Amino acid sequence: MRTPIIVGNWKMNKTVGEAVNLVSELKSLIADVSGVEVAVAPPFTALVAVGREIGGSNIQLSAQDVFWEKEGAFTGAISVSMLKDTGCRFVILGHSERRQVFGETDASVGKKIRAVLAEGLQPIVCVGESLEQRESGKAFSVVETQIRGCLKGLSPTEMEAITIAYEPVWAIGTGRTATPLQAEEMHQKIRNVLKEVFSQDTAINVRIQYGGSVNAENIRDLMEQSDIDGALVGGASLKAVSFSRIVKFSQK
Ligand code: PEP
Repeated sequence: MRTPIIVGNWKMNKTVGEAVNLVSELKSLIADVSGVEVAVAPPFTALVAVGREIGGSNIQLSAQDVFWEKEGAFTGAISVSMLKDTGCRFVILGHSERRQVFGETDASVGKKIRAVLAEGLQPIVCVGESLEQRESGKAFSVVETQIRGCLKGLSPTEMEAITIAYEPVWAIGTGRTATPLQAEEMHQKIRNVLKEVFSQDTAINVRIQYGGSVNAENIRDLMEQSDIDGALVGGASLKAVSFSRIVKFSQK
């Protein structure tokens, strides 16, 4: 049985004070929720303060990115041990904004995945096709290439510590969600690739989230699909009430 997982990606939003206020409100709204894992990914600057605020609660901490080197002359970068130090359990990797704006590739995502796993944290690996790729019938092959490229060489045990987030780029921040059937179709395809690369058990055990304009109105239909194990939520995670409703509607 896969436990659903809902992660709020706050992107480049919230000062430290705003982040603490948001998570404090969220904490009380979902205090009685069980059967679903919840994490928030504030900007680096707010990780320590948010980590303190959620201590002892049912909310976990995620980072939005990391660098693969352990330490040294890498101006502006943050290492996995630095994230661990703040109490992070998850690290989002390969988000389409990192790929598009910062030149992230499957090879760099792969190095980050290994660095995160080596320190015992759990990567959330984002994949997804652009609108042009979907419209030209290439969605499946694009996602398959990303999956194979990022995850090659990992053991089945390492793979099972990873959550995959299927995020069609055309659905991120656009208000245009993939239909539950479109998402389910891709999630099944991803599971088939995992079966080929790893094993049947791995394919069954790995959690696959959907991401792209998820809100309190569309989450229930998405969660009804058997291969959708939660959501990576951007815009709707910036308000405690909307995010708490998504969390509550995700209890399977
Ligand atoms: C995201 O940034 O991962 C995301 C899915 O954003 P939004 O929910 O705003 O589309």
